[in-house]
Amino acid sequence: MMNEFSYKHDFPILNQSIHGKPLVYLDSAATSQKPQCVMDALMHYYQHDHANIHRGVYELSVRATKAFEDARHMVQKFIHAEHLHEIIFVRGTTEAINLVAQSYGRSRFKPGDEIIISEMEHHSNIVPWQLLAEQTGAVLKVIPVSDVGELDLEKYETLFTPRTQLVAVVHISNVLGTINPIKEMTQIAHAHHVPILVDGAQALPHIPVDVRELDCDFYAFSSHKAYGPTGVGVLYGKTALLDSMPPYHGGGDMIETVQLHQSTFKKLPYKFEAGTPNIADIIAFATALRYLNRIGMEKIKKHEHDLVTYATEKLAAIPDLRMIGTAKNKTGVFSFVLNNVHPHDIGTVLDHEGIAVRAGHHCAMPLMERYAIPACIRASFGIYNSREDVDALAAGLLNVLRMFA
Ligand code: PMP
Repeated sequence: MMNEFSYKHDFPILNQSIHGKPLVYLDSAATSQKPQCVMDALMHYYQHDHANIHRGVYELSVRATKAFEDARHMVQKFIHAEHLHEIIFVRGTTEAINLVAQSYGRSRFKPGDEIIISEMEHHSNIVPWQLLAEQTGAVLKVIPVSDVGELDLEKYETLFTPRTQLVAVVHISNVLGTINPIKEMTQIAHAHHVPILVDGAQALPHIPVDVRELDCDFYAFSSHKAYGPTGVGVLYGKTALLDSMPPYHGGGDMIETVQLHQSTFKKLPYKFEAGTPNIADIIAFATALRYLNRIGMEKIKKHEHDLVTYATEKLAAIPDLRMIGTAKNKTGVFSFVLNNVHPHDIGTVLDHEGIAVRAGHHCAMPLMERYAIPACIRASFGIYNSREDVDALAAGLLNVLRMFA
């Protein structure tokens, strides 16, 4: 029944055995595997087109520059940004958020100004704001998470004051799988004349993202979670905000003129892209996005929704399993604790069955504290996963229970 959605064969790494068992990869929230076309794009670029971009007058550099700028077009189309120059290439979600904190925040936040984040943020959407708070005297305010793993929107609205400068919130939680109502949260922020940054690391590969429909001011994501290479990410920002921000990194390629004591800077997006970028991986990221478009994000969303329904039932039948995150609107991320078995022991037993899951705090320590657990197991899905993978996980967990009974 699930076979009409079958893309596993596009991912060579999945065709192997681990400890004598077929590999079941359930850690896509940490990083996704790569389809052959992405690896081919990397190889093709290095074999045929590599040169430094923007500066060369010779054929190879022209080709590399075109492929690089075509990648920017692809990203713009994929997230429905209004302007090409609103797409800034960075190293990943983490760098995108740090860029906003250090450029936007540092240049304008004053002591006592407020930044609203949530209790379900990844460390990369907490620590940059803490660093900024130390530098500027700004303070963090936090939207609480309910028992099922949803944000309390009523409480959110009460956090706004005349000192609120920015909301920074995750689109989809990497622990709970909760899809936050970003459009509504943006409307609330804008009603208070406050811009909103959205951490889209877990959303981009799983649901259609339309930044204009969301109307968010900044949107950050990483290539490696969306079937592209590591070391690449994107900061989307609305033109007026990006234009008003000072450069983040200084160096080559971002300048208009340089004198020994002063410089002038290029226009967007180059103002924020100092130095030689990760050309090959950015080009291959565009290939990953084209691959996702060929499948169709709506189709991907539906497939993952079916898997979530199936896995929710299957895991509910495991005795003593406590699910962390049971929001109505969630994606294929299942975090749980099982009886009193240590998550690392569960992970090790599953590994011997060929099943790759993550054990730990998942870079969300405040959320672990919220649920009064030191760590948990997380199984997360990608487009290559099927009901058989869920069955393997359930069987593996029953095995764990037998071993630790
Ligand atoms: N935000 C979320 C919700 C994430 O899941 C992750 C990665 N686990 C990040 C941010 C950071 O992404 P990266 O490490 O690619 O910068």
